[in-house]
Amino acid sequence: MRNNNLVVSIVCFCFLVTATIQAKPKHPKRVVLMIGDGMGLTQISGALSNFNGQNAFARFPVIGFSQTASADNYVTDSGAGATAFAIGKKAKNGAIGVDEFDQAQIGLFELIKKAKGKTAVVATSSITHATPASFYAHVASRNSEYDIAKYLIHGNCDIAIGGGSKFIYNRPDGFALDSVLISKGFQLIADTFMHEVRSNQFIYTLAPDGLKTMKAGRGNFLTQAAALAMKQIGNSATSLIMIEGSQIDWGGHANDFDYMQAELLDFNAAINFVLDEAMKDKETLVIVTADHETGGLSLLKSSNHPQKFEVNYASKGHSGVMVPVFAYGPGAEHFSGIYENTNIFHKIKTCLRLK
Ligand code: MG
Ligand code: ZN
Repeated sequence: MRNNNLVVSIVCFCFLVTATIQAKPKHPKRVVLMIGDGMGLTQISGALSNFNGQNAFARFPVIGFSQTASADNYVTDSGAGATAFAIGKKAKNGAIGVDEFDQAQIGLFELIKKAKGKTAVVATSSITHATPASFYAHVASRNSEYDIAKYLIHGNCDIAIGGGSKFIYNRPDGFALDSVLISKGFQLIADTFMHEVRSNQFIYTLAPDGLKTMKAGRGNFLTQAAALAMKQIGNSATSLIMIEGSQIDWGGHANDFDYMQAELLDFNAAINFVLDEAMKDKETLVIVTADHETGGLSLLKSSNHPQKFEVNYASKGHSGVMVPVFAYGPGAEHFSGIYENTNIFHKIKTCLRLK
């Protein structure tokens, strides 16, 4: 009898342990969505080919592919590309946070604010550029950066760090956006980096438009800005931080491999930082992807150096190839497979239990 009781107890104990492990919810408290603008597989493989540091992309357990076509073109631009992530709908090229009929749609940032969560964008472009703008603004054209900046007033983006001071201060239309934002509770900072932050909501601009390139000495801005955004948001439930390596795309448009590589290595460093944080807190879902590939980059056989490749660009614009998606953390398993870029919206929505 005693032995039987022992067996029953052990079985019950094992069942309880198993049940406890299985019942642990796989929902992240916060999502960090990292977008390498114009970052296809060839950019990643080329840029990291002779890199001796830690390859951040190799640290992800889950990998998928995103199909990037926009509502009106097989080859997307960054507006429609980021809009797909932000609102879950295909938009026309050039559109920001609107559907294919240019109608404003409720996006992840609005859903998160409704759930009392926190939101942030970090970019090496202006904070009003197509990729970050798609998360908090709703306009038919990405070129309306002065109008895009006004959407910050709505308060759906708690933290914005990047360039773009000219769209906030001393605007040509005379609109005192800076005063209005301050009256709404935002702290505005526009100077060198790592100024003291006093408010939960702040707009931090470090250049009139895009930030300088890595080659021109941008330093570790992106990692520092990612750290600041993550620290300010903390692990308050239901938050989303979008971090963009904006200029990987600009190197692609210029068909300048060295430019692209320096920007991608900077992005790689920021990913390593975010992953280290996520591995510590275990409540952060990290997603790294791209809106599209830029330049039709291929790495061809080199006749002079058999161990190296020859860089070949097919275009000064974007291409329609699928882009990789890397995921780590609670909910990462949702991101394997091949799916439309709009599904990244739905997957984040599910992971954060947004309604
Ligand atoms: Mg961009
Ligand atoms: Zn581009």
